[in-house]
Amino acid sequence: MILTFDLDDVIFNMKPLALEAFKRAGVPYIKQTSWNIDEIYDKKVCDNLVDLWASDFLYTMPVLDKEIPYILNGLMSQRDMEVFFVTERRLKQPEKTFRQLRQAGINCSYAQVYDEEGLKSDILRDIGPDIHFDDSPNVIRGCLAKSVPVTMISNNSTLYNHYLRPHVEYYTSLRGALMKKGLLNRTK
Ligand SMILES: [Mg+2]
Repeated sequence: MILTFDLDDVIFNMKPLALEAFKRAGVPYIKQTSWNIDEIYDKKVCDNLVDLWASDFLYTMPVLDKEIPYILNGLMSQRDMEVFFVTERRLKQPEKTFRQLRQAGINCSYAQVYDEEGLKSDILRDIGPDIHFDDSPNVIRGCLAKSVPVTMISNNSTLYNHYLRPHVEYYTSLRGALMKKGLLNRTK
C-alpha cells in the first residue's frame, strides 16, 4: 500500500508562522478564507510569509497532533507500506523540508520527500498512492480530475476548502482519517 501526505495543515500547524508574518507586518491576523493569499492578505504579510518559510522558523513549526509522528513511524515500519511526503510550497527547499520532518520525529528518508517544481497532482499521479491526504483545494481538484484517490483534511483552520466538502471524502484531522480507514494500530 502506498500512502502520501501533504505537510502544511495536514501534519504541521501553520498558524504560528502565519501569526508571526502578521506580527512582523504590523497588521491584525485574519483567517485564511481563500487559497490565493495574494488576494486576501496585505503584500507585507505575504512577503513575511515567504521570508519565514526560507528561515529557520520553519523548524519551529509544531505538528498539529503530537501522536502523528509515532503513527507515521508505525506505518513506515510496516513491510507492505510505502509512505511519501509531498509538498507544494512556494519555495522549493527539499533538504529543509526533510530536516523539518526529521526534527519533528518523523523517521523518513530523503527519498521519501517530494518538494519540487511541477504540478503536485501530476507528481502524485506518478507516485500512484492508494490514498493521498491534503487540504489544498487546487491539489484536491487536480487529484479528482486525475483519478488520484484523495482524502481531504477540512476543519475550522481550512475555511478555503469547505466548498469542496460535497465533492470529496473529508475528515477534520489526519488521525481521524487514518482511524476511519483502519490504518491506526494495524498489525504488521
Ligand atoms: Mg497543506
